[in-house]
Amino acid sequence: MTYPANPADRSPKGDHNRRLSLGLDTDDFAQAAGISVEDLHEYETTAPDHKFRTDVAERVGRALESLERSETGLVDNGPIPPSESAYDGLTEPEQPFGRAQPSICPVSLEPATLLASNAEYREYRCPTCGTFRISQVALTLAGDDPEVLREALSVARHVTSAGEVPFVSNVSG
Ligand SMILES: [Zn+2]
Repeated sequence: MTYPANPADRSPKGDHNRRLSLGLDTDDFAQAAGISVEDLHEYETTAPDHKFRTDVAERVGRALESLERSETGLVDNGPIPPSESAYDGLTEPEQPFGRAQPSICPVSLEPATLLASNAEYREYRCPTCGTFRISQVALTLAGDDPEVLREALSVARHVTSAGEVPFVSNVSG
């Protein structure tokens, strides 16, 4: 059972976006849907409020639903889940926000305290680096390169006023 039940109610533009978020090109998706690439292209480029082939729409809808069920969801909006952070294995399992726990400073790679961790950032207290926050995105982007984080932290310190916690929201490297 696909939604919407009536394929004539589908949104070609919306289906186009759903295909893109699955990371599939037209060739692969047309094959999965059992339609030709030309049919898929014609369907996806239907102008708003114009008619499209409902048999194509139905196959597209069915393929989208089955692919979306089987694919691991792509996180293309917002922060990367902590479990996919590049620092898995270095840090303890996630704790609810606000519970300090022993960890490793991602900048100086020494024992530090993880003061807080949520979907957006982690806050560390490190003997060398002091207290700072670092976004999950920055952690992921920096990969296993602490040098990148060290630079980003020193930049963050410069733009942080006294008494505030430096926040590394992004990295340039
Ligand atoms: Zn440190």
